[in-house]
Amino acid sequence: MSATIINGKEIAFQIREKLKNEIQTRAITPKLAVILAGHDPASEIYVKNKQKAAAEVGIETVLYRFEDDVNPKELEDLIDALNKDFSVNGILLQLPLPEGIDSSKILNRISPQKDVDGFHPFNMGLLMAGMNGGTVAATPKGILRLLKHAGIELAGKNALVIGRSNIVGKPMAMLLLNEDCTVSVAHSKTKDLKSLCQNADIIVSATGCLKLVQKDFIKDGAVLIDVGICRDENGKLCGDIDFEACLDKASFMTPVPGGVGPMTIAMLLENVLEAYLKQNA
Ligand code: NAP
Repeated sequence: MSATIINGKEIAFQIREKLKNEIQTRAITPKLAVILAGHDPASEIYVKNKQKAAAEVGIETVLYRFEDDVNPKELEDLIDALNKDFSVNGILLQLPLPEGIDSSKILNRISPQKDVDGFHPFNMGLLMAGMNGGTVAATPKGILRLLKHAGIELAGKNALVIGRSNIVGKPMAMLLLNEDCTVSVAHSKTKDLKSLCQNADIIVSATGCLKLVQKDFIKDGAVLIDVGICRDENGKLCGDIDFEACLDKASFMTPVPGGVGPMTIAMLLENVLEAYLKQNA
């Protein structure tokens, strides 16, 4: 048996095309404010990619740049102004913020209606309560979309989420629970990750630990979703899961790159359009 590779790049492309058509048909221009503080090289690339992808579907972006020594009050004042600005539909605060700034305090300042990342406690709370209408964080939302696109039955399945961040692990666990999976969450203090993996029908790994999930960790026919972004010994981009080794044992796998990553951007764009539509209903 060789696992079916879930092509996130292709599925994300289809979603972006659909968004582009919808924006064109409605003759609207949703607007996203992007806040970038400091000069983290990865953040610079992420922001550039998000702006490019937004432009391609017809979403306008405005970038607000700050230096590493930005006063948190400046960020708060900007967010207050953007919250009040009716022309702005979404606010994206690129993380991480420069050292010493309490990112949750700044994130919580964003109006839940403009929180297109879904990180505000109000939106996280709606997800936790299993209630519709909130914004769901882009990466876990994209993973759920991939699972559904691949036709994977979720109800009653044992799902293991490795990683418990607010950005990926926790919302992913909630989404899977809301889909009637029996969910376990592992983290760095988890004892015996291997046996948890061996019991899992679906594994979503989001740690950034190279080859954390090995072939002998997984059961036959497991569905493996790899969120991690790592570099192997040769500097090649890869994920948390030993992709090559697991190929002939898993039933479905996402590659890195070309799996979860493209879906994250597509879901962010979808969240911006949804925010626009709710604000203009
Ligand atoms: P994070 O905030 O650093 O969280 C990492 C999680 O992994 C933590 O919960 C940590 O446990 C857990 N962990 C670390 N080592 C572990 C181990 N040996 N065994 C089990 N759990 C372990 O990272 P994140 O923001 O969630 O991102 C996770 C990975 O996904 C990173 O590689 C990131 O670059 C990638 N990512 C990719 C996308 C995408 O679109 N492709 C989006 C977001 C993130 P503790 O809580 O105990 O520390």
